[in-house]
Amino acid sequence: MTVLLEARGVIKRFGGLTAVDGVDISVAAGKMVGLIGPNGSGKTTLFDCLSRVQAVDAGLIRFCGTDITGRRAHDVARMGMSRTFQIIRVYRDLSVAENMHLSLQWGALGLPGLFARTDAATRRRADELLDFLLLSRLRHERAGNLSGGQRRLLEIGMSLMSEPRLVLLDEATSGVNPTLVADIADRIRAVNAEQQVAFLLVEHNVQFVADLCERVVVLDQGAVLAEGTPGEVTQDPAVIEAYFGDPGGGAEPDGEADPAESAPRTGESASSTEGPAS
Ligand code: ADP
Ligand code: MG
Repeated sequence: MTVLLEARGVIKRFGGLTAVDGVDISVAAGKMVGLIGPNGSGKTTLFDCLSRVQAVDAGLIRFCGTDITGRRAHDVARMGMSRTFQIIRVYRDLSVAENMHLSLQWGALGLPGLFARTDAATRRRADELLDFLLLSRLRHERAGNLSGGQRRLLEIGMSLMSEPRLVLLDEATSGVNPTLVADIADRIRAVNAEQQVAFLLVEHNVQFVADLCERVVVLDQGAVLAEGTPGEVTQDPAVIEAYFGDPGGGAEPDGEADPAESAPRTGESASSTEGPAS
């Protein structure tokens, strides 16, 4: 089994706070791995380190056999690692198709690419992906008019424009109506199966991860608390304690500061963020 991404002993500090505290994690080619943990456990920061958006204080990160610890984010993107962000990043005033085109130019070429003209191959790739993600009828829609779930799908599409080998998805179900979460899971599964794209999924929605991933890593206070199958980790007493044992509110993973980005829990009430935005 080819290891695509391998991180050893990753440490990231913010002043006196150690947000990521010696994490080992790996993703094999074509696999889907889940990364869960209570709010503030370091999931997004670890993503930032892996995708080189943040410099690490210690540790080693290898991607496709190359040490990328000192590389820059757009180098890593060019090598085939792509990511989305917890707070959705689409250009609301541009169309769905334009967002797809720009994402590639940004990822592959950096700033100068934004001024380049969109070529036929790029447009074709965007159209194919929009078809695949069931967004083609919205191709000319302003991205700001999409529902939360449609925006998440657009983001996934944008992350796939560069034909990555690995995509890091940060909270793909955040702000998505529970009835559409299954559609997103279905499309991710299809991309994985048909295009052999590996995924590392950060999620507060444990059920979503359990449905998609054979292997799940649980973070708590910046460190790996448990690792195993979804069944193994969700029955692990230490994991239950981390999620539910904290009287200070550890049972509510990921209550984000931005209410628009806060998300439905597994099997709980519907989020109001779904539905056409104005
Ligand atoms: P998660 O994604 O698991 O909710 P984060 O990685 O966002 O967790 O945060 C982990 C910890 O690091 C939290 O205590 C958070 O407040 C802190 N943190 C994250 N980003 C920064 C930053 N840029 N500066 C200072 N502290 C940060
Ligand atoms: Mg986060």
